[in-house]
Amino acid sequence: MSNLKKILLSGSRGRMGQAIAKIAADHDCEITFPVDLGDDPKEKIGHCDVAIDFSLRDATLPLVKLCGEFKKPVVIGTTGHENSDRDQILQIAKEIPIVWAGNFSTGVNLLFFLTEQISKVLGIGSGFDPEIIEMHHKLKKDAPSGTAERLLEIIKESRRLSQGDISHGRSGMVGERQESEIGSHALRGGDVVGEHTVMFAGTGERIELTHRATDRVIFATGALKAASWVQHQEPGLYSMQDVLGLTS
Ligand code: NAD
Repeated sequence: MSNLKKILLSGSRGRMGQAIAKIAADHDCEITFPVDLGDDPKEKIGHCDVAIDFSLRDATLPLVKLCGEFKKPVVIGTTGHENSDRDQILQIAKEIPIVWAGNFSTGVNLLFFLTEQISKVLGIGSGFDPEIIEMHHKLKKDAPSGTAERLLEIIKESRRLSQGDISHGRSGMVGERQESEIGSHALRGGDVVGEHTVMFAGTGERIELTHRATDRVIFATGALKAASWVQHQEPGLYSMQDVLGLTS
C-alpha cells in the first residue's frame, strides 16, 4: 500500500505543471491525475487526496467548485483572477481547506514576513525611507510584479498610507522625497527570473533585504509543501505564510 499522496494537477502540461511533476516523488506525492485543457477533472476528482491548480485564471473556479462538491482540499497557484471569482472561492473555502498564494517560494514568503516586522519597528517618524526595487526578464509584460505589489501593500498598511503615496519610477522635477512616500522601481532585462529588494534608507545607515529567484522549482516545492499541509487543515482560506508558520 503506497503512502504517496494522490494529486490531481490542473495545468499539468504547463511550465509549472511540469516543474511540479518532476519533483513530486521527492515530497511523497504522486501526480496520479494530470489534467490539462480538454480533460474533464470530474472523472478523477473523487480518487485524489488533494488538487493543485497552476492553469489559467478561468479554469480555477470550476475546479474549486468541483473540489467543494467532493470535499477535496485544494492548492491554488494560478494568478490574475477577477474579483467575482475571488468572492466565490472565498465562499467555497467555508466548506474545504484552500491554500491560495500568488508566490509559493519560501524565501519570498519570508521576505513578506520580515518586511512586515521591519515596517512595524521603522514606521513613520523613524527617519527610515522605504523603497522597493524589483528586476525581471525582458519578456515580462506587467510592472510592478505581483510580489512587489504585495511588499508595497505591507509597508503601506503598516504606515497607514494610501495608494497615492506610492511613487513609481520618479522622473523629472519631482521635488524632495516626502516622509509619506514609498518608492517603487521596476528594472527589466535579460533572463532574470525575479529579484526583489526592500530598502529602508536612514541617515548614515541603510537596511536592505534582497530575494533572488533563479529557478521556478522554488514555486513547485512550495506548492507541494502546501499540498501536504492543507490535507490536515479545517475548512478555510490559508496563505503560504500559514503553511510556513510565518504569521505574526
Ligand atoms: P503555462 O502557460 O506554461 O501553463 C498553463 C497550463 O494550463 C497549460 O498547459 C494550459 O494548456 C493549461 N490550461 C489551460 N486551460 C486549462 C483548463 N481549462 N484546465 C486545465 N488546464 C488548462 O503557465 P505556467 O507558467 O505554468 O503558470 C500557470 C499559472 O501559475 C499562471 O497563472 C502563473 O501566473 C501562475 N504562477 C504562479 C506561481 C506561484 O508561485 N503562485 C509561480 C509561477 C506561475
